[in-house]
Amino acid sequence: MREALHSIGGSLLSGGAGCLDSLNPAEPTSIVARIPLGAAAEVEKAAEAASAAFGTWRKTAGPARAERLYAWADAIQARAAELAEAIATEVGKPIGEAKGEVGRCVAILRYYAGEAVRPLGEVIPGLASGVLQYSLREPLGVVGLITPWNFPLAIPLWKAAPALAVGNTVVLKPSENSGWCAHLLAETAIAAGLKGEFNVVQGAGEAGAALVNHPDVKAISFTGSDTTGAAISKACAALNKKYQTEMGGKNVAIVLADADLAQAANLVAGGAMRFAGQKCTATSRVIVESSVSGRFLDELRKAIELLPVGSPMEAATAVGPVINEASQAKILGALGQGTVLHSVTAPSSGFFVSPTVVGGVDASHDLAQNELFGPVLTYLEADTLDAALELANNTRFGLSASLCTRDIRSALTYVDRIQAGMVRVNADTTGVDPHAPFGGYKGSSSGTREQGEVAKDFYTQYKTVQINP
Ligand code: NAD
Repeated sequence: MREALHSIGGSLLSGGAGCLDSLNPAEPTSIVARIPLGAAAEVEKAAEAASAAFGTWRKTAGPARAERLYAWADAIQARAAELAEAIATEVGKPIGEAKGEVGRCVAILRYYAGEAVRPLGEVIPGLASGVLQYSLREPLGVVGLITPWNFPLAIPLWKAAPALAVGNTVVLKPSENSGWCAHLLAETAIAAGLKGEFNVVQGAGEAGAALVNHPDVKAISFTGSDTTGAAISKACAALNKKYQTEMGGKNVAIVLADADLAQAANLVAGGAMRFAGQKCTATSRVIVESSVSGRFLDELRKAIELLPVGSPMEAATAVGPVINEASQAKILGALGQGTVLHSVTAPSSGFFVSPTVVGGVDASHDLAQNELFGPVLTYLEADTLDAALELANNTRFGLSASLCTRDIRSALTYVDRIQAGMVRVNADTTGVDPHAPFGGYKGSSSGTREQGEVAKDFYTQYKTVQINP
């Protein structure tokens, strides 16, 4: 059986407090790889390797750091097909989207290779003349990255690439549900010449907690559920450690009466159901202007029927399984609380859930408030844009939102009033360009942003310098 390994100082190593099997969610009898459960000892070794590498890496000139990131992009590109297949088999992402994720990884690395040669800091006029005053943005040191399984290559990279570009070294603790993908990612980093600069400790929450608490780890960047994020924020605050937490959503699509209803239905269906609704930006609520609700629901049913449900390895598949049995059971349990307005058949073996639209609940109901992370869309109605915005904002989350309309005034009102970090018009709630800021409002985020230039803010600290004659 394949064994995923830790990657410490450029060597692939086994070890830890036991192991678990990573299953193919479409065929759970098939084991993708055995994942070692790293613990404090593995975190200690990785932190040591990252600390040792930091001394040299922070002094490595930007253009030379850029070369390493370009080389990493090339190493990923060279194994693109294999990596996409690993994503599809380990986390059940349809192969078309898995290929897209690999392409995004290459784009992220190339983008941050460019960032590694851009200015970091500025000259600030002094109160007195003849004074040279400037700000330097220095790396933090060793940064700990804790990531979920749903973008098993892209999320580790959209953290690691900006961290490395500005001179930090990294210890990644990937999800225990995607350890094989993390193993392959580590192999590509080693092929690109990265050793102690990028380390991976496989494992579950115990390894994550050890990383958070390690004294040599200066900052934690986390993506995952709001429950884990809250625990990590609390632990980091107590240690006065810099942190960012990017968490879940209850993302909304609003459909106004003037929208192209067929187009809107395709956008909402795709945003809700593709990859079985397991994107943090997936559409999980739709609010439809009441006057067109009947017509829209007909279009939505047709659009959902057009999304093939099945094996992630089939090119045509749009909806695969959910990640594991626990997730499947949680989603099926929640569905019983609403009225099913539409549901399509899914395979009976594997962790599949039928793409389902549920209604008959009000905006305060569990189905309209809590993230299910499955192919389930909660259907709500509102009489006006004002009422729709009120419903849309009635959630503790604020990650992404979309509006379907042909009216520019409605679009501008929505952009002004919606409480979400990523806001789209006539597009679905998922998908943000890899060079644009990514993150949420309210309970979806600790308030920083990832991707794009702004990602460098988290991975640097300011030093204000004044040189007098
Ligand atoms: P999760 O919170 O269960 O796990 C995330 C990571 O935290 C894993 O690596 C896990 O091992 C680790 N972990 C668990 N307990 C820990 C602890 N006590 N201390 C330290 N680390 C710990 O989340 P998941 O199921 O892997 O991912 C799904 C969630 O991620 C969803 O809520 C989704 O919305 C969210 N997500 C958010 C974004 C975003 O950018 N906002 C992107 C993707 C996914």
